[in-house]
Order: sequence, then C-alpha cells, then structure tokens
Amino acid sequence: MTPGRERRRGVAILGSTGSVGTTALRVLQRHQERFRVVALTAFSNAALLREQAARFRPAFLGVVGNAEDALERWACGPDCLVEAARRDDVDIVINAVVGAAGLDATLAAVGAGKRVALANKETLVMAGALVLDECRRGGGEIVPVDSEHSAILQCLAGRSTKDVRRLIITASGGPFREWPRERLARATVADALHHPTWSMGRKITVDSATLANKALEVIEAHFLFGLSYEQIEVVVHPQSVVHSFVEFVDGSVLAQLGVPSMELPVLYALTHPERLGDTGVPPFDPVEAGPLTFERVRHADFPALRSGLDAGRRGGAAPAVFNAANEQAVALFLEGRIGFLDIPRTIDAALAALGDSDGSNREALLTADECARRIVREMFGC
Ligand code: NAD
Ligand code: MG
Repeated sequence: MTPGRERRRGVAILGSTGSVGTTALRVLQRHQERFRVVALTAFSNAALLREQAARFRPAFLGVVGNAEDALERWACGPDCLVEAARRDDVDIVINAVVGAAGLDATLAAVGAGKRVALANKETLVMAGALVLDECRRGGGEIVPVDSEHSAILQCLAGRSTKDVRRLIITASGGPFREWPRERLARATVADALHHPTWSMGRKITVDSATLANKALEVIEAHFLFGLSYEQIEVVVHPQSVVHSFVEFVDGSVLAQLGVPSMELPVLYALTHPERLGDTGVPPFDPVEAGPLTFERVRHADFPALRSGLDAGRRGGAAPAVFNAANEQAVALFLEGRIGFLDIPRTIDAALAALGDSDGSNREALLTADECARRIVREMFGC
C-alpha cells in the first residue's frame, strides 16, 4: 500500500500543553499524512488548549483541573484522561502527563489494545508489573518516549534481550554536575531549573538535578526490557549526544546518537519499528557534537539515585513510595518551602517508613502513594 492510501492513525495527547505535549504536536503537524490528532487534554491551561484545538480540530478536548474559561463541550475532571485514552478513534496515546496522575490512562489505553507512547515514566515506575499485566490482558503495548529508552529500543530492534549483557543509560549530570557537595545545600529553585542540555517541564528538570530522574529511568528500563537491576548501569555524559548504550553478551556495544531533541524519540514512538524522514531536526555532525566525554556518577553527593535503585530492587510498593515521595518533595521545593538536599532526605524517610507496604494491586499502590506524600508533608508541617 502506498503511504498516502493508509488510514491515518488517530492520536490522543494527554498533557498536550506541556514540554513533551507541544513537541508531539510539532511532530504530528509535520506528518499529517500519517496521523491525525483526535484528542487533547491539559491540566488547566485552557488558553493554550484552545489554540491547539483551533489548529488541529480534535474530536475530544479535556481539562483535568480548574479552567474557568473551558468551553462547555469540553470534558472536565481527572476522568477525561481515561475517556480520551479509550476512544475507538484513538490508535496511539501519547502519555505526556507528569507524575502518578497518568496511571489510570496508561492502564486504560493498554487494556483497550492501544499503543502508548510513554513519556510519563512515573506510572511505569509506580506500577510496572500492573501495567505489563494489563498490556498482556488487553493486547496494548508501551513504546518509550524517554530518549534513553528510545535509544535502547532502537539498538535492540530485531534482537532478543537474552543476547544483552548490560544497558548503560547516560545521564547529563544536570546543572549541579560540577558543584561541590557544600554548595548543593544552598542550591535555589532557579539554579535547579537551569538544565545544561534539555529544555523540559519543571518537575523532570529538578529530577535531573537530584538524579532521581535516572533512578526512575533505570526502573523504567527494568520493566520495559525485562532486565535485572544488576544489568542496568548509569554513566554521566554531559553532552547528551549518546542517548544510551547496549552491551551484548559477546562484548559488542551499540549506541544511539543524535542531537538532544525530543522530536526524534517522539516520532520513533509513533512509527516503531519503522522510520519516517522529514523530522525538522538538524543533521548530526560528529565534529560539531564532539568531544564526547563520560564520567562516573557521584553517588555520595546525589543519593536519590541510589535510593531509587534500592527501591527498584526491593520491589512491591517501594518504587511507588520512592516516586510519590519524590513528587511531593519536588513540589515543595518548587514552592520554596524546602531545600534542595531535603528532597533525597525525605525520600529516604518515606522509604524507611513505607518501603515494605503492599504493592500487589492498584488500590494498594495508590494507598502507598498517598501515605508517602503525607509523610513528606508532615515532615515539614505542610
Ligand atoms: P510539563 O510539566 O511540561 O507538562 C506536563 C503536562 O501534563 C501539561 O500538559 C499539564 O497540563 C499536564 N498535567 C500536569 N498535571 C496533571 C494532572 N494532575 N493531570 C493531568 N494532566 C496533568 O512536563 P514534561 O516535561 O512535558 O514531562 C511530561 C512527562 O514526560 C514527565 O513524566 C517527564 O518525566 C517525561 N519526560 C519529559 C521529557 C522532556 O523533554 N520534557 C523527556 C523525557 C521524559
Ligand atoms: Mg530521559
């Protein structure tokens, strides 16, 4: 069949007003012969959502939080995410919501047999086993949008993971890569939001500064690729050009490289295992990109990474507790109510109190999530 004759695949974007959401719309604008936007949701930015609606004319619009200027025909409230994800005219759900709020939509989409292009890593971290069960039951699939996991998927394409010895996930190191430990205690919100290579939403930018983001990504990789935690390592790579490495059992190593733009992994999550041209991303120039350097992680100074890895190995509700404590602590940090080093400290307190909680089903995980948030708030009298 010629490309022009194929049915255009229906796409829902959950979190269309965010950093990944707006990138996804740029990608879809360029590939309208293949895809059509059928549903968009946002938290509260009704003005931007209205602008997007005028340009893409989706059949469904949803606003989760309070949006006084939402139009009457829009779906309102948290259920609009699940409603959008389950629609018959949706083939692919781009989940670009931030945090645990994206969980039910991911479950609904894979349960209804859809592809989920997943940026919302937090939900795979908090409920990886549940999401995979639901994929098997409903026939859906998760294709990662996260650049590191997209890189790994591309290196693995057509190969069995039994041939893999190790994944090496790269980390930019964030804005504090070279800061001495004493200075970290004084890091401000503005310092933490000043990411050296990626422009992203506020929560993931702070996660990149604490390295909690890499813990989330290792747990995400564990569930996506079915590899043990012993097989997944992290290396600091300040230029963010090598998006990750895969080492095979014979010692051969593949890597995927590219300029740091989310357009490539978003497009690949839509087309995998195929590829489309015309990405709008400048061509790769190895001379311009170099020199490429690699460093060990400073675990002692960025303890959130190790706490997250321990939570992953512990299993059960521990990853959900890690994720929820981190989300709550980051929110308080962004409000200026706690310091930068309070983030890993509160994560550890929540894990000490709740790490062995029941995580066997959705309700248990949501309870663990809520308790972890409460512990963090209580630590600071909030
Ligand atoms: P963002 O803050 O820029 O956007 C978040 C989007 O989710 C917005 O549209 C917002 O309206 C919506 N939203 C926020 N809270 C919500 C809620 N409670 N319910 C429903 N919708 C809600 O965030 P982002 O940087 O685009 O990141 C989104 C996700 O993608 C995160 O999980 C992040 O870790 C992941 N991710 C982002 C990047 C990046 O380059 N930005 C890269 C890799 C992974
Ligand atoms: Mg990433």
